[in-house]
Amino acid sequence: MRTNYDVTIIGAGLAGLQCARLLARQGVNVLLVDRKNSLDQKIHTTGIFVRRTLVDFDLPDDCLGPPIKHVTLYSPALRPLELVSQYDEFRIGRMGQLYQRYLQQCLLAGVDWLPQTSYLSHATANDQLTLRLNSGSSTRSITTRYLIGADGARSRVARDLQLELNREWIVGVESVLQGAVLDGPPRLLCFLDPKLAPGYIAWIAHDGEETHLGVGGYPSLFDPTTALQDFRARVADIIDLRKAKQIEARAGLIPIGGVLRNIANSTGLLIGDAAGAVSPLTAGGLDPCMRLSAFAASVVTEYLSTGDVQVLQAYSGELFRSRFASRLWARRVAATLRQPQLLELGCAVLRVPVFSRLANHVFFGRGSFPDVMETENLHPQITQML
Ligand SMILES: Cc1cc2nc3c(=O)[nH]c(=O)nc-3n(C[C@H](O)[C@H](O)[C@H](O)COP(=O)(O)OP(=O)(O)OC[C@H]3O[C@@H](n4cnc5c(N)ncnc54)[C@H](O)[C@@H]3O)c2cc1C
Repeated sequence: MRTNYDVTIIGAGLAGLQCARLLARQGVNVLLVDRKNSLDQKIHTTGIFVRRTLVDFDLPDDCLGPPIKHVTLYSPALRPLELVSQYDEFRIGRMGQLYQRYLQQCLLAGVDWLPQTSYLSHATANDQLTLRLNSGSSTRSITTRYLIGADGARSRVARDLQLELNREWIVGVESVLQGAVLDGPPRLLCFLDPKLAPGYIAWIAHDGEETHLGVGGYPSLFDPTTALQDFRARVADIIDLRKAKQIEARAGLIPIGGVLRNIANSTGLLIGDAAGAVSPLTAGGLDPCMRLSAFAASVVTEYLSTGDVQVLQAYSGELFRSRFASRLWARRVAATLRQPQLLELGCAVLRVPVFSRLANHVFFGRGSFPDVMETENLHPQITQML
């Protein structure tokens, strides 16, 4: 293994993998580091990909479950609102498999891979950036021209680079089940319930092969593990879980303050959750991972080839933040809706046909992350690779 790289990426979630494979295909020497031993462990996502991502990116079909067109939104009193799209709106990623596939693509493109290795710190001396990495009992140093933080919601890289840090989170926990029985087509069931999921939703994502049952909300307002147990009991009349077996438990923090402003400097930049690139309203972060990482790969390629620091100015959260304004506003409203009666009333309003368009827009709208790919911002070779 080399000890000197063009780019080192800390974190091999979707953001880090997407960025690593795009950079390596451009001929950039990339080191990808993750503290996990294997990428199918401790997954931080349900894996629901929205139509816009499925259309714009060539995700491997065998790493995705069957398409979902149906959504049922339940009020706190379990009154349903049925929404059906004419399109295949969602597919649940088989995320362990997808991460492994992207890792294979990274390796084929020449990325060096260091699993079970934690980023500890970095130091700059004589224009050289040195990283300290820890693999269990041993600590090693490598040098790199540029550092990318793809290390999740509580990013150590962001802190060390003195970039902006996420400050607002919800927490999500879920069980992945096999053997659950839900009649009808594959569907996404969303439950508004301020006790089980304060400030967010509880969900059942069922595509006929796999079922994800989860709750999310503000950590100070509930105990997620207890809420997940209570939720399981609450939906006993909606989905038959008697023969369901838990095959995986997933959990994680979801930053919901909107993409951060200050996400790049001459030493490094942030992508994915580390950059706060998550929709504040829906908490969807997979589409932003794909898009922002492609943009980052483009900017870094340009920066490495020109050495011009001005190039990095394009990689600013300010570019996206104004496009998040309505979703940030909606997040503030969602955070205050804690009385079941208010939510019940809101759901009753949504059942009135003229307002159900709003629910359709939230679930089936195409605006999860500002489209950097539609601008002329991308390096032409990166555009060809997407
Ligand atoms: C329960 C839950 C359900 C969700 N469901 C959806 C969904 O269905 N659809 C959707 O669009 N979004 C969803 N999200 C949000 C979305 O999953 C995230 O935004 C996205 O996965 C973030 O990817 P990432 O690569 O930035 O971070 P992560 O996937 O968190 O990856 C970060 C990686 O960095 C590594 N790492 C961290 N620190 C270090 C270190 N010091 N050294 C080495 N490695 C380190 C970690 O091991 C990890 O592998 C969900 C989130 C949660 C928590």
